[in-house]
Amino acid sequence: MEQNKVLCLLCSKDDFLHQIVFETPSFYVILPRKKIGNGYFLVFPKRHINDFNLSSDEFKDFSLCMEKIKKLFTDYHKSVDYNLFCNIGYSAGQHIEHLHFHVFSRSENEEYNPLNKLNKEGLSRSGQLSEEEIITLVGKYKNS
Ligand SMILES: [Zn+2]
Repeated sequence: MEQNKVLCLLCSKDDFLHQIVFETPSFYVILPRKKIGNGYFLVFPKRHINDFNLSSDEFKDFSLCMEKIKKLFTDYHKSVDYNLFCNIGYSAGQHIEHLHFHVFSRSENEEYNPLNKLNKEGLSRSGQLSEEEIITLVGKYKNS
């Protein structure tokens, strides 16, 4: 388990430090590199777990994360609609073995469905945000 933790992308805080939009005592909310659309966050517990076995304190924290995310979506994307989902297990589409939730802001006038774009295999480099774009967007959210 300890060895898995070292190799886990979501346990390597130094690698996503600049992507952190906010954190709570037990969760991080980050801006993913994938360029999916307006309003897309990844929410995951700081603790390395790979299933939906959150403690009651973590559930409270998760709920707090969702409240803050809904406020960011309302402030910056003018929408109260969103998708929240997670994949558990490889067959379900989980590629990082650390519990994480995808959250998308949704609106009526979207160019495309962000869920379809997320599931598209092998996004090219142009399908990813640059370091500068990440820093700019995270700064915008943090200044709310
Ligand atoms: Zn992990």
